[in-house]
Amino acid sequence: MILHSHLDSWLETRRRLTGQSIGFVPTMGALHAGHVSLIERARRENEIVVLSIFVNPTQFDDPGDLAQYPKTLESDLEMARKSGCDHVIFPNERQMYPDGYRYRVSENELSKILCGAHRLGHFDGVLTVVLKLLHIAQPTRAYFGEKDFQQLELVRGMVKSFFLPVEIVSCAIVREGDGLAMSSRNTRLSHVDRKHAPHFHQILTQAANADEARRALTEDGFDVDYVEDIAFGPSTRRFGAVRMGPVRLIDNCEVQR
Ligand code: AMP
Repeated sequence: MILHSHLDSWLETRRRLTGQSIGFVPTMGALHAGHVSLIERARRENEIVVLSIFVNPTQFDDPGDLAQYPKTLESDLEMARKSGCDHVIFPNERQMYPDGYRYRVSENELSKILCGAHRLGHFDGVLTVVLKLLHIAQPTRAYFGEKDFQQLELVRGMVKSFFLPVEIVSCAIVREGDGLAMSSRNTRLSHVDRKHAPHFHQILTQAANADEARRALTEDGFDVDYVEDIAFGPSTRRFGAVRMGPVRLIDNCEVQR
């Protein structure tokens, strides 16, 4: 596995990788089994697997959340190696934002609801960094988790709108045994909150409608950001975001209309 802390090193390598399929998995590190499922799928479907680790400051609306975001590079690299990555790119902020974020991608509909309504500018930051990373990696396929379903749909839309030559592959949510969606932020939950957290998924999936889910979550002690049912093509998904102390959790599931 080759490590690239400088983009120049990766770009030099990339120029020589012609005619081979490249699977790309962009992450913010603090890797867990959810990330590993994306890497393993990329491994099965491509000749070369590239992982990026970059905690993207422009997608954080809360400086405290950015400061607290877990950083575990050593164990990430170990996990990347075990799951079969060929290259890991981990640039710093100066390399990723030579323009100081003067140039950015923005979307005006889907990015304004759900997480976008609660985290101002979040999806501008996400789309901008994903566009940069796709140009840097120049992959055949890029892998995204349904855990961040709104992000996945926005990336798909950007790829279509800007005619980007990459296939976006969506991967199912990986959960803990008790149903909690795996997330880098779960490690920041207190012991008590971690025990309680699986109720989020249970209530989200079992409530008859979004209003009932919101009510039940509030009664159960969650600080609810939103719960909404939204139609995507033929199916409807229920999206939820809750806060447990300083930690914000998101989840989504398909529901019957
Ligand atoms: P992050 O490091 O949180 O930015 O996530 C990097 C990628 O991993 C994104 O495409 C996420 O949707 C995906 N991901 C994160 N958690 C999970 C999970 N529990 N199951 C599947 N994919 C996930």
